[in-house]
Amino acid sequence: MTAQKITMGQNGQLNVPDQPIIPFIEGDGIGPDVWSASKLVLDAAVAFTYGGKRKIEWKEILAGEKAFNKTGEWLPAETLDIARDCLVSIKGPLTTPVGGGIRSLNVAMRQELDLYVCLRPVKWYKGVPSPVVHPENTNMVIFRENTEDIYAGIEFASGTPEAAKLLDFLTNELGVRKKIRFPETSAFGIKPVSKEGSERLVRAAIKYALEQKLPSLTLVHKGNIMKYTEGAFKMWGYELAEREFGEQVYTWGQWENAKKTQGEDAANARLKKAEAQGRLIIKDVIADNFLQQLLISPKDYAVVATLNLNGDYISDAAAASVGGIGIAPGANINYITGHAVFEATHGTAPRFANTNTMNPSSLLLSGVMMLEYMGWHEAAACIEEALATTIMRKRVTIDFYNLMHDATLLKTSEFAEEIVKSLKMPA
Ligand code: NAD
Repeated sequence: MTAQKITMGQNGQLNVPDQPIIPFIEGDGIGPDVWSASKLVLDAAVAFTYGGKRKIEWKEILAGEKAFNKTGEWLPAETLDIARDCLVSIKGPLTTPVGGGIRSLNVAMRQELDLYVCLRPVKWYKGVPSPVVHPENTNMVIFRENTEDIYAGIEFASGTPEAAKLLDFLTNELGVRKKIRFPETSAFGIKPVSKEGSERLVRAAIKYALEQKLPSLTLVHKGNIMKYTEGAFKMWGYELAEREFGEQVYTWGQWENAKKTQGEDAANARLKKAEAQGRLIIKDVIADNFLQQLLISPKDYAVVATLNLNGDYISDAAAASVGGIGIAPGANINYITGHAVFEATHGTAPRFANTNTMNPSSLLLSGVMMLEYMGWHEAAACIEEALATTIMRKRVTIDFYNLMHDATLLKTSEFAEEIVKSLKMPA
């Protein structure tokens, strides 16, 4: 068995060899602790599930402080080249350099590889301490647009020549000066939202929902206020769904039309019929309302597709209700090229670096998402079950220990060993 790269096939499906080369960035701060724990479990689960037929060939690539100390660069070109070449990689948290040219290493990687989906599954594992009464009702996957919106980084500070130039343009070319309350001291930010960008995000989310046979997809937006950016996101989303997925979906846009032409009862009857036929129901909710829906009726939401800033808030709010920062996994994916970076969603927690105390579940579950993405479903399921068993037995790291009764406190590495001991073949 020789190690080979994962490639993208002509058919848009990944070719995953039995011994794929997967680059990893261990990360800064608590990164090395949570990475070595995650790697231990990933390797053990693959060996256990496939009996030596499959094995990951890990290849370290540098980013963050470790890269800076060794090479003088925060994100060496070689790191991006290897990540690009090998398609699928995984990373721990990285320090955000203060000052200098790079705003955020994560943002730079997402932009370089055009990773347009930030994928955040939000699911509760039995026994995980949660601030809500019924955390089991939350089980959703969030597709956050990752390349556009106010995150594009087009911002001009108050009092700069650029801000003055933009103000001049807004005043003289667009005639909107009156809409700016304090023009002379305003800073400005630009919010690009494109048709292509919105469509590729919504397309990926619909395909996912159909593949997983999920009941609904919700477009979350602030189109009531930002009509031409967020409103367009919703409109393009509905149009794409109807145009590209036809009978497989039924949209609230179609329900609105039916209501106008045939009346509300007939429209409701059609919606019921579509649900009974197992069609994917595509609906939309305004972002502020969605944040309360997350708490009030999370059961109504299976897949969410949203813009960059909304997605940032929503992913963390949703994650909080199922146990928060130590356990929420994430991935950044370009489904067209196949490029994907799986990552812990928490930061480097520098105070706890090298203490071997933090929870590795966020990075480990990102690894589980990676196995799923590679089609290694058996190993993924096996880890998820062993993790759930370990938590149910209340053998946990400090973050959960502090919130549980009668729990046993484990170090990061002991928690990983405990998961390995609990590995069982999935039923
Ligand atoms: P943080 O997520 O690093 O830590 C906040 C707190 O959350 C910690 O003090 C700790 O109590 C808790 N926590 C975090 N990870 C945990 C884990 N695995 N288990 C248990 N508890 C955990 O956020 P911060 O302090 O705002 O940021 C620190 C650094 O990390 C900054 O440089 C920031 O830019 C960077 N950061 C990186 C990423 C990333 O690489 N994806 C994400 C967020 C922040």
